[in-house]
Amino acid sequence: MSMKSKVQTLATLYTLCRWIYFLSIVVFPILCILLLVFQFPVWMMIGYLCYVLVLYCMIHLLHAKISIYTCPSCHQAFGISLWKDITAYNAKAGSKVLVCPHCGTKEVMESKQKK
Ligand SMILES: [Zn+2]
Repeated sequence: MSMKSKVQTLATLYTLCRWIYFLSIVVFPILCILLLVFQFPVWMMIGYLCYVLVLYCMIHLLHAKISIYTCPSCHQAFGISLWKDITAYNAKAGSKVLVCPHCGTKEVMESKQKK
């Protein structure tokens, strides 16, 4: 067995995906200009948008898989789904407004990486 846990591997993949996503967004305006100048077919741009969307979902899926939240009220730990990871309001960096599945408390909860 390797030294790295599954969560650590996913966390590395998460960081990598975020970098690729960041670069893809930065490159986007340049691609738009190239599209106009060289008159690339529109399906190329649609393809690129699909690629960015898939990457976006990948990032949220990985974040949901590696993160754990602790309820400030009942102190129970819980994970969230991909859908919740995308839709939950980000109160600040690394924190989301979540409803505890154990006691129903709606509160700002800080994400921690699973061990
Ligand atoms: Zn709770």
